[in-house]
Amino acid sequence: MKAIECAGLVHIYKTADLEVFALQGLDMTVEDGEVVAIVGASGSGKTTLMNVLAGVQVPSAGQARVAGWDLGSLSDGTRDRYRRDVIGYVWQSATLNLTAELTAVENLQLPLLVAGKSWAERKTRAEELLEAFEISNLRNHLPAQMSGGEQQRLALGVAVANRPRVLLADEPTAELDRVSARQVLEDIRALREREGTTVVMVTHDHEVEQHVDRVLRIRDGRTSTESRADTGELVILDPAGRLQLPKSVLKASQLGSRVRVRAEKGRVVIEPPEGE
Ligand code: ADP
Ligand code: MG
Repeated sequence: MKAIECAGLVHIYKTADLEVFALQGLDMTVEDGEVVAIVGASGSGKTTLMNVLAGVQVPSAGQARVAGWDLGSLSDGTRDRYRRDVIGYVWQSATLNLTAELTAVENLQLPLLVAGKSWAERKTRAEELLEAFEISNLRNHLPAQMSGGEQQRLALGVAVANRPRVLLADEPTAELDRVSARQVLEDIRALREREGTTVVMVTHDHEVEQHVDRVLRIRDGRTSTESRADTGELVILDPAGRLQLPKSVLKASQLGSRVRVRAEKGRVVIEPPEGE
């Protein structure tokens, strides 16, 4: 089973006087245990995608499946169970992920308590997480007594305490300096090695390609390109035959708004109509 399958995913925000098409038929597949980064300009739909995958927002149309759960048709009860059992979520701002009045170790135990884990299980798992995210020495510190990077590593621990199938993180390194950001990215990858967690994270980090299996670029609410170490950047051709030409290619080609398309052996040629 794929960890995540989105097909023709649409999300529309309706406000009093306008509709915003935040996701416009997005296709995306993520393999089990894969670590994927989502990049794209501000307003391209990254946070909306994360919120749909997190079960926070219901898609307007299309399909979104996570670990076999159909996100378009969850009842309120199953939605809560999905969010508690399947997904871990890290927000951009570390403070949103943590309870200010609780120490690091108490923050880690809280989701385990909510999930009904025994005292012994809570203790063992919290110790394991303190060690994994290299904050054992800060166990009795409140979040306010930790650096941004330490808070974000604690937030990762809280998000994965109950061993979710999928970890979602929306710009988890945005507020961090280089060194702290790198450590968070390394900890995310180590998490996958250790626990097999599938990870989807939004990031602007320029170094992110070194830390993930694949980088997906979103443009105007759809996935436009993907990069992997072995293939470099590839343009995505969706099942309906659509693709988004990179802006640089479009500019260099000087094509108008209507083109002729024809197939040649092993390639597709896009050219101006005859007479232009
Ligand atoms: P990103 O995270 O890539 O910056 P978002 O998913 O936040 O993009 O936003 C995508 C589009 O949806 C933008 O045009 C944004 O203005 C719009 N949008 C986001 N949230 C809302 C909302 N709650 N109500 C109306 N429009 C929204
Ligand atoms: Mg965003």
